[in-house]
Amino acid sequence: MQLNAPIQYVKGVGPARAEAFLKLSVPTVGALLRYYPRAYEDWSRIVPIRDLPENEYACVRAVVCHRVDHVRVPGGLQLYKTTVTDGAGLLNLTFFNNKYVCSQLKEGEEYLFFGKAAHNRYGAREMASPLFQKPQSAHRIRPIYPSSAALPSRAIERCVQNALDALEGPIPDFLPARVRTENGLCTLDEAVRGIHFPKTRDELETARRRLIFDELFLLQLGLLQMRTRTHTAETGCVLQTDATAAFLSHLPFTLTNAQARSVREAVADMRSGRPMNRLLQGDVGSGKTAVAAALVYTAAQNGLQAAVMAPTEVLAEQHYRTFSKFFAGTNVRTVLLTGSMRAAEKRAAKAALQSGEADLAVGTHALIQEDVGFRRLGLVVTDEQHRFGVAQRASLAAKGAQPHILVMSATPIPRTLGLMLYGDLDVSVLDELPPGRQPVSTYCVDTSYRPRIYNYLKKHMDKGLQGYIVCPLVEEGESDLVPAEEYYKKLQNGVFYGYRLGLLHGRMKPKEKDAVMRAFAAGEVDLLVATVVVEVGVDVPNAVVMVIENAERFGLSQLHQLRGRVGRGEAASTCILVSDAQNEEAKTRFRVLCETTDGFKIADADFRLRGPGDFFGKRQHGLPALRLADLLRDSELLLTVRRAAEQLLEKDPALQEPEHAALRRQTDKMFAAAAVG
Ligand code: ADP
Ligand code: MG
Repeated sequence: MQLNAPIQYVKGVGPARAEAFLKLSVPTVGALLRYYPRAYEDWSRIVPIRDLPENEYACVRAVVCHRVDHVRVPGGLQLYKTTVTDGAGLLNLTFFNNKYVCSQLKEGEEYLFFGKAAHNRYGAREMASPLFQKPQSAHRIRPIYPSSAALPSRAIERCVQNALDALEGPIPDFLPARVRTENGLCTLDEAVRGIHFPKTRDELETARRRLIFDELFLLQLGLLQMRTRTHTAETGCVLQTDATAAFLSHLPFTLTNAQARSVREAVADMRSGRPMNRLLQGDVGSGKTAVAAALVYTAAQNGLQAAVMAPTEVLAEQHYRTFSKFFAGTNVRTVLLTGSMRAAEKRAAKAALQSGEADLAVGTHALIQEDVGFRRLGLVVTDEQHRFGVAQRASLAAKGAQPHILVMSATPIPRTLGLMLYGDLDVSVLDELPPGRQPVSTYCVDTSYRPRIYNYLKKHMDKGLQGYIVCPLVEEGESDLVPAEEYYKKLQNGVFYGYRLGLLHGRMKPKEKDAVMRAFAAGEVDLLVATVVVEVGVDVPNAVVMVIENAERFGLSQLHQLRGRVGRGEAASTCILVSDAQNEEAKTRFRVLCETTDGFKIADADFRLRGPGDFFGKRQHGLPALRLADLLRDSELLLTVRRAAEQLLEKDPALQEPEHAALRRQTDKMFAAAAVG
């Protein structure tokens, strides 16, 4: 049987099962073999009945003491009971509505039983509906598959076994033998058999390591190839002169060393004849905008237009104001382009870009989607990168004559995760804040402090300063949380009567949100009660107090981002985390925040606490899904994989050698699936 054979060809799969397999996205034999167990029953460690742990899966080897009794319970439930012994202890077994056990379990015979034991109040051991098998025929480590009602795990197990038995010869291996030996990996055939039916724990580990290596390796190959493609592509937008010095002399401040280095790196890219594809990573407030401005200025002096894209209209307008200020008194002309502008304004902005009269367009994503024509677009800057996926970057690069791309991210991420998310980009890091910043003081208090917090806020508002109160998003039925809207009304009509409060939450229309944000930025609102929508990039230097309610509901990086909304001006700022949470994990998060303001340290701690799955939300990054690899647990392996992928591509950048053909097909397939998903 071939790997691409339809699933019906597998022994034991009729039309109904085939249908059920399709629902699990398993249409072929190959897909079945890649349908990995989610866990294993370990029947290899036999536990004496007397030592059975409570409520944990364990395996005992025992003889059936008496015939299975049938007990009818009112309500139609049928119970089947027996007792087994391993010589030293007794274990009561109960099965529900399963009359077959009567004929399967024979008095005086020995079986292996696998299940969770309970201790009843007289100290006797019980097990409900254990799995069992004869000791001599036993698979010692059995797979547990993600199952459905129509396809129980045991049925899947039999089908996988049948499929493996029916294969003609070993599963072809797409990894070059050299990569395999250099990295101490087993063959693909061994790995697939080992992941489903390992004979020992070691064999399972060997299989997993190989399959995880594959996942990460294909991913890195794909990302590195994307990078190579841009590195080897030609761009029509080569800088002839480096005009940054002129811009810098115009700036009201001196760049930090980190900013200056990043500008140099980017300018070198833009002069190289290859399109730039660079990530500018810097903590909140590290001054990414000034770096971008220097590059926009230089591009403009070379006759190239630039586009700066922000994820929201509020941010776009903010950037528009900032860039306009930076470029006041220079020859760089900036236009704003957002969805909510009036038609005539939009037309004028588009015409200016088309004719080349404007050098810079600042806007939302609509900027690339709408039919905006540039005369000579040479530089695209995207802000707050974690909202853009790999696929979107690729589509951007495809537009125009290979413009240079600078991606700015305020989300510091650990190196291993960076290799995954930005594996196709070169990276510049702003690891230094502009001088003179006052670090935000952070405190964690319980809800009994609320009156004092309100007074603290009033004291600041009376001085003309502003603040935020952030509440978590509320899902239905979560009654212990503070919903933003109710809280806002209560505060406005209660303690803060007479102050100007604003409300900002996710269910408001974009226009309403923008209006509130604008009023807040203009100082027309003293206190903003908001859900996380305030998280990204907003720059209101006059806001100096950040209160976060139900702080336990936010992740570390999220709390750090929120805190970054204050501490942006001259006045000292405060962040107050309000929480009654007692659990250790939440307390750890608060401790980290109170101890450090270093975004990279916080990202690392967050990654460790939450795991990478949650780190960026669900698949926001647009990368292929990982089945087995876990970026936290497998971070060592990821670095090995990265090196192996780089070595291979050094010799064969486009994977054109015949021995790499299978590898190329696998990589393409993985990325094609991700693009569709
Ligand atoms: P972010 O990296 O979070 O986008 P911004 O670009 O908004 O940070 O910069 C934050 C603030 O710091 C801005 O008000 C900006 O004018 C100021 N700033 C940037 N670079 C410097 C510098 N080298 N010296 C002093 N202030 C700076
Ligand atoms: Mg910013």
